[in-house]
Amino acid sequence: MAQVVLRDVVKNYGDIYAVDHVSLTVEDGEFVALVGPSGCGKTTTLNLVAGLIELSDGEIFIGDRQVNDLDPKDRDIAMVFQNYALYPNKTIFKNLAFPLKMRKLPGAEIEKKVRAAAKLLDIEHLLERRPRELSGGQQQRVALGRALVRDPRVFLMDEPLSNLDAKLRTQMRAELKRFHQDLNATVIYVTHDQMEAVTMADKMAVMSGGLLQQYDTPERVFEHPVNTFVASFVGSPAMSLVPGRVVGDGTGAAIEGPDGWTCPLSDANARKAQAATGGEIVLGARHSTIRLHREAAPGTVPGRVYTVEPTGDITYAHVDLGSATVVVSVTPDVKLGLDQPVWLEFDQHKLHLFDGKTGMALA
Ligand code: ATP
Repeated sequence: MAQVVLRDVVKNYGDIYAVDHVSLTVEDGEFVALVGPSGCGKTTTLNLVAGLIELSDGEIFIGDRQVNDLDPKDRDIAMVFQNYALYPNKTIFKNLAFPLKMRKLPGAEIEKKVRAAAKLLDIEHLLERRPRELSGGQQQRVALGRALVRDPRVFLMDEPLSNLDAKLRTQMRAELKRFHQDLNATVIYVTHDQMEAVTMADKMAVMSGGLLQQYDTPERVFEHPVNTFVASFVGSPAMSLVPGRVVGDGTGAAIEGPDGWTCPLSDANARKAQAATGGEIVLGARHSTIRLHREAAPGTVPGRVYTVEPTGDITYAHVDLGSATVVVSVTPDVKLGLDQPVWLEFDQHKLHLFDGKTGMALA
């Protein structure tokens, strides 16, 4: 397997910068997810690594080789797409053997590699069938097997699970993770589904508008999002973001909402808040770090229940603060009426503060 390095990579189509000066290193054996909303540049980034499109600027290394001008077939990569791209008239065995036949490997070696891949992916019993006789999950495993037999230095995967139903996707997610761990493979994986990235990847590269917003472990991205974009993209339900103004000085500072409420801050948060440009600040809180009170209490922010979403073991209450809505999780036994007045207490240790002008996290 190999390390992959992107150095100041650019792909532009005239004025459209699909990938805008992206630099990142995927270590040997690492599983990296490229995530972001539609159009953020993740597929273009993957295709640049694959060599399917040409760089406008920058450098890409696979192992210690600069591959800018290398054909895809010479890059030692294998791609897995969402639409499997299996040959419908060939048996599964022949589908798996095809890339090896193209490389003119001896028959016995092909047989050995195909059987080993089929064993690893638990599709040995399907080898004589044709793709249409397989379920979506089984076809996806064959597509993975076809990448595997090539023994590539890097696996590149573009939304490989997006054609599967929710249940199968969860199952295949676990299998892919195991596949990566068993092989110690270098994987670059494109998805718009942040849950897939959080659950499978060693690191996630969060992109928006062609720019790399944050590149770190899922835990760090979740706990320390660098800006409001990342904060609202990673985590489900999304982090609630509430705009306000910093009032008061030093450790006595608090946040005042446009609707007149005041949220006091701990000394540490008050110090951070001082850095907000022009006093404009955004308070960020995840649903599990907010306590809901039925009565007014010191240090709480008043709101009204907008809607209630029971999901089984957790109920999400959407609370309207006037200028923003905040999602709070409560246990299913908590009964809340629509428009009921409630008061929110933000856990100061888990509170995120962002500059209201730049959107950047205040440290
Ligand atoms: P999705 O999840 O929808 O596939 P993505 O994050 O993979 O999105 P890309 O396909 O990488 O996004 O596209 C990034 C941007 O570059 C988009 O704005 C897209 O419209 C633009 N783009 C991609 N290919 C071309 C092209 N050949 N010509 C012009 N613009 C392009």
